[in-house]
Amino acid sequence: PALVRLAGVSKQFDRPTAVRAVDNVDLEINSGEITGVIGYSGAGKSTLVRLINALERPTSGSVLLDDVDLGKLSERELNRVRAEVGMIFQQFNLFASRTVAGNVGYPLKLAGLGRAEREARVAELLDFVGLSARAGAYPSQLSGGQKQRVGIARALATRPKLLLADEATSALDPETTADVLDLLRRINRDLGTTIVVITHEMDVVRSICDRVVVMEQGRIVEQGDVFDVFARP
Ligand code: ADP
Ligand code: ADP
Repeated sequence: PALVRLAGVSKQFDRPTAVRAVDNVDLEINSGEITGVIGYSGAGKSTLVRLINALERPTSGSVLLDDVDLGKLSERELNRVRAEVGMIFQQFNLFASRTVAGNVGYPLKLAGLGRAEREARVAELLDFVGLSARAGAYPSQLSGGQKQRVGIARALATRPKLLLADEATSALDPETTADVLDLLRRINRDLGTTIVVITHEMDVVRSICDRVVVMEQGRIVEQGDVFDVFARP
């Protein structure tokens, strides 16, 4: 079953120049799978992801998350949907003034969880990503790989069905990249989280994705099982 469904979705920007960042895209993201979205810089990958987590509204077409048409929701309802989608970033986007535990616990604070419940959940998440020993550290005291694991723990805090990773390994060296990809695979397998990985790196797709979507100039030019797509001449 599809967790995400895009039908005829376009996103046009008019400034600074007119560009159709996403151009008439039809796409289904299956529940329980890891889907890679690959393409060169400017292909429309980030815009596609921002449409899926309702940070952008489409110029035309519809985006359905769990069979709910995001275009029919109020701003208040959209905020609830956004909390159900986890997001990780190339530059980690951690709060520099909060500890590791503070970063991970922040979405739970926003969600209104009480202190005891937050602490228990944060401890569980830090254990899952292997950072229990660094709970009291600040982001500046961590390596890149550790920072991304904090970002991942924070993204998982509200137990999202969907995790969106936007160039999440692009700032990491190959060894650290492998660790983070292993963690994503474990999240998919053990927590059942559906994952969308945006990347310009073929190896990332090859190593963890079930399906791949290739974007060029806002359009999907190819999609299918990773094995099939990469086997094509
Ligand atoms: P990618 O993630 O594949 O690099 P993007 O989705 O970031 O691609 O960008 C696709 C196109 O849309 C680019 O031409 C980019 O300049 C343009 N674009 C993206 N976001 C905006 C925006 N907020 N305003 C104007 N143009 C944008
Ligand atoms: P803030 O000032 O944003 O509350 P803190 O670092 O004091 O930042 O704590 C943020 C969250 O992390 C809180 O929900 C707190 O309960 C939790 N927390 C703090 N330290 C730990 C820890 N060592 N283990 C587990 N949870 C913790």
